[in-house]
Amino acid sequence: SRQLVWLRSDLRIHDNTALAAAAAKGPVVAVFLRSVDQWQTHGHGINKIDFWTRGVTALKEALEGLNIPLLHRDIASFDEAPATLLEIAREHQIEQLHFNLEYPLNEQRRDQAVIESFKQADIAAHGHHDAVAFAPGTLLTGKGDYYGVFTPFAKAWHKQITADQLALRDTPDAQSPLGIDSDPLPPLPDLDATPVDADQWPAGEHAASNRLERFLRFRGRHYSDQRDFPKVRGTSELSPYLALGMISYRQCMQAAMSENGGHLADGDKGLTAWVSELIWREFYQHVAVGFPQVCRHQPFQAHTRKLAWRDDPDAFNAWCEGRTGYPLVDAAMRQLVTTGWMHNRLRMVTAMFLSKHLLIDWRRGEAFFLRHLVDGEFGANNGGWQWAASTGTDAAPYFRIFNPTTQSTRFDPNGDFIAHWLPELAALPTKARHAPPRDLLTQLDYPAPIVDHKAARQRALDAFKALSD
Ligand code: FAD
Repeated sequence: SRQLVWLRSDLRIHDNTALAAAAAKGPVVAVFLRSVDQWQTHGHGINKIDFWTRGVTALKEALEGLNIPLLHRDIASFDEAPATLLEIAREHQIEQLHFNLEYPLNEQRRDQAVIESFKQADIAAHGHHDAVAFAPGTLLTGKGDYYGVFTPFAKAWHKQITADQLALRDTPDAQSPLGIDSDPLPPLPDLDATPVDADQWPAGEHAASNRLERFLRFRGRHYSDQRDFPKVRGTSELSPYLALGMISYRQCMQAAMSENGGHLADGDKGLTAWVSELIWREFYQHVAVGFPQVCRHQPFQAHTRKLAWRDDPDAFNAWCEGRTGYPLVDAAMRQLVTTGWMHNRLRMVTAMFLSKHLLIDWRRGEAFFLRHLVDGEFGANNGGWQWAASTGTDAAPYFRIFNPTTQSTRFDPNGDFIAHWLPELAALPTKARHAPPRDLLTQLDYPAPIVDHKAARQRALDAFKALSD
C-alpha cells in the first residue's frame, strides 16, 4: 500500500502533516513538481526560485536518509499537475496521495483539480491542513464571517487554540528501501537574472532550526524592544523558511513556548509579541480564502477601486532603484535588491511612500517586492501592501501617512542603517544622514527628494477624500 506525498512549499521531513499521514499508512514515495514558468507568472523572481531549488536539494538528502525516494518533474503550468501525478501514481502502484493544502486561489484550484482527477481514477487523494493552526473557514466571527480585522482574529485564535493544533507531527522512521531511485535534480533553467548570494540564505531544515534556536536564545526576549530598528537585526529572519515550509509554525510556536515557560499569550513580552507575528501570518492566509477578491488583484475595500493612482514611470523607477532622495526609503530598497529581504519596519515605510507620497498603485509595489523577495508569499505581501495603501484589511487609516524623515530619526537614530546601504552619505554627521543638506547633494552624488512630504501628503489625502465625494 504505497503512498505518494507531493511536497510543494513544505520542504521538510519534520512536523510535516502530509508526510506523517502518508508514512502512517505505508511506504512512501515523494514527488516535487517544479513549475518555474508558473512561479514566474505568479510574480516570483530568481531569489525565491533559487532558494526553492536549493531547498529541494536539501529535502532530497533528508528524504534519502529515510529511504524515501524523491521524484522530480518539470511542468509548464499548474494545469499539468493532475496528469503528471496520476502517471506517477500508476507507474508506482500508489494507493493514496497526500499533500498539504495551499490557500491562494490558483493553488486551491490546482489542488481541487488533482483531487478530482484522482477521484475519477479511483485513487484517494488527501489535502491536509498544515500551514496554519485553523483551517480557513473554521475561525469565524460571531456572525459566521471571516475576520477582516487582525485583533479580534488573534483573540479568537488564542481562545480556541488546542494542544493538538500545536503538537508536532511524527517524523517518519526510516523505511525499508523501495528499490526506486530518486531523480537527479536538474539545474535551474537560465532565467536571465542572478540570485542573491546563497550564503545569506542557506536552504533546508537544518539551517532553519539553527536560526530559530539562535533567535530565541539571544534575541527573542528583546524582540519587542528591538524589532523596529533595522540596524539591530532584532527579528528572526525566518520568513523565507516559513514561506517554503523549511520550518513550520508549530515548530516555531513550540520553541517559543518552551523558552517562555510553556506560555503562548502570557509571560515574556518579547516572546509573546513574536508569537503574535506568526498569527499575523495565519491571518493573511485566511484572508486570501475568505476574501478571494484579493487574489484577483482587487483591493479588499471595494470603494478604493476608484482611487486615482498616478502613472509616473520616473518616480516608480526612482523608488525601485533607491533614488527617491529620502535616505531611509532608498537604503531599504537597496537592502531589498541586494539581499532579497527587507526589514518589516522598512517594508511599511517604503510601501507607504510608494502608495501615498508617490500615489502609485500599490499593486506595482507588490509585484516589485515579490520579484525580489526570498520570502515572497502572497498572503503576507498582499496583506502588507494593502495595509500600507489603506485599501486592505485592518488598513492604516488613509490620513495616517508616515513621514519618512521622522521614521528615519526614530528607527535609525544614528543613521547607521542609512550609512551601511548608502555609503555616499556615511561621511555626513549622523543627524544629517536623515535629510542630507541640499547644498551638499551634488558633491555627495545623492538626489534631492523627488517629492515634498507635505505636498505629497496632501495630494494623497485629497485622492482618498475624493472617493467619498
Ligand atoms: P519576525 O519578526 O521574526 O516574525 C516571525 C514570522 O512571522 C515571520 O518570519 C513571518 O512569517 C511572520 N510575520 C511577521 N510579520 C508579519 C506580517 N506583518 N504579516 C504576515 N506575517 C508576518 N512577509 C512574508 O513572509 N512574505 C512577504 O512577501 C511579505 N511581504 C510584506 C510586504 C509588506 C508591504 C509588508 C508591510 C510586510 C510584508 N511581510 C511579508 C511581513 C513581514 O514584513 C515579514 O514577514 C518580516 O519582515 C520577516 O522578517 P522576520 O522573519 O525576521 O520576521
